[in-house]
Amino acid sequence: MRLTVLGCAGSFPGPDSPCSAYLVEAEGYRLLVDFGSGALSTLQRYAGLHAPDAILLTHLHCDHMLDAASYVVVRRYAPDGPYPALPMYAPSGAPDRLALAYGQEDGTVEDVYHFYGLQPGTFPIGPFTVTVDRMNHPIETYGVRLEHDGRVLCYSSDTAPCEALLRLAQDADVFLCEASYLDGVENPPDLHLTGREAGEAATKASVGRLLLTHLVAAWGSEALTVEAAGTAYEGPLEVVRAGACYDV
Ligand SMILES: [Zn+2]
Repeated sequence: MRLTVLGCAGSFPGPDSPCSAYLVEAEGYRLLVDFGSGALSTLQRYAGLHAPDAILLTHLHCDHMLDAASYVVVRRYAPDGPYPALPMYAPSGAPDRLALAYGQEDGTVEDVYHFYGLQPGTFPIGPFTVTVDRMNHPIETYGVRLEHDGRVLCYSSDTAPCEALLRLAQDADVFLCEASYLDGVENPPDLHLTGREAGEAATKASVGRLLLTHLVAAWGSEALTVEAAGTAYEGPLEVVRAGACYDV
């Protein structure tokens, strides 16, 4: 598997990155996991306007899904289009939310997306074996485990500490984990992880490599987040950047 980070800014776009969007490729098949604000720009820069063969939205917060609404234009009104409906795996409510965000209150975007509602479980997407489970976040949110050819990539999406995250990440070769909060300050409960909590999850799940994401540039500190994660996890770790590629 090859992971390309299209966007990794937490909560709102940062000065150097769009919001969450990760392109995962195997056997020439490209699955876009999340499509947050601004990521349509880096999709073109790092992959191509029509790169995704399928999209999976982990939840319906703007910073994980809003450019899937903008992408309706790309598919529906392309000079050489319209393009065939793209498989879209997303929480219940996605068809209405995307139509509303697009501005099509009395219409549908189901000419652009073929929706599959997510539920906890394991299923195939292209060459990937995908397992999703509910995370500890205020709305319906799924963490994702992608397996291909004996390799495992786990993505936390947004979550506070929970057992389901540890199950999904168990023995993953690469663990792409959010670290939105700073340690040592008061943080709202049941929402996000700190760097230390991301490190603790990585250690408990015995992952091979920890990639920290979803840092909030304006409010956080990359140095403090890395330091905190390093107190809880001894393996290799780093903060991802837009445009970075990883072979899993
Ligand atoms: Zn969220």
